[in-house]
Amino acid sequence: MKPPKELVIECPVCEEETDHQILGGRVEGKKRIVLRSSVRCCECGHVHSVEIVEERPIDVPIIISWMGKSTRTKIGLLPSDEIRVNDEIFVNEDRTIVTSLESSGVRKRAAKASDITNIWAKKFDKVWVKISLEFHGKVYSKKILAIPEEEFEIGELFDLEGSTAAVTSIKVEGRTIKKGSAMAKDIVRLYARGVRK
Ligand SMILES: [Zn+2]
Repeated sequence: MKPPKELVIECPVCEEETDHQILGGRVEGKKRIVLRSSVRCCECGHVHSVEIVEERPIDVPIIISWMGKSTRTKIGLLPSDEIRVNDEIFVNEDRTIVTSLESSGVRKRAAKASDITNIWAKKFDKVWVKISLEFHGKVYSKKILAIPEEEFEIGELFDLEGSTAAVTSIKVEGRTIKKGSAMAKDIVRLYARGVRK
């Protein structure tokens, strides 16, 4: 592995972080990236030697579920990164939330990346909001896709399969909201009344 050409590090003369030109040296290490090199400060020209140690990222297997399908892929993490259930992590462009972790055959709530054998996550770009819709005296079970932060407010009108419905109450974890609003990701069930077709 070739060393990079430039580095931003502290210059002992300038007493601040400056661009440095790398004059040689080498990069080694399997688990860690170790760079030993002479460097020249681009600001004052001072030459000094550095030893920079960085962790090398590792690929951790991750299974992402999204709308009933699972995709197996890998995520690059630093060995010391701690991952927890409910952490939001980006995998490629996808926003996901960690649902479970496995470390040496045991399910865990939290683990260091170097100890993780598998991560389970679900895509978090959109969430299903379960709806009980009352229309002409009958109750229908419906669901809609919403972005996690989308707010639903009591009394608000929204589109539901081409009809218009009004939010009457919202059940969230542990309570029911009769006034105010809740975010889609927190909604256990939304109660609505059909207004018109
Ligand atoms: Zn300098």
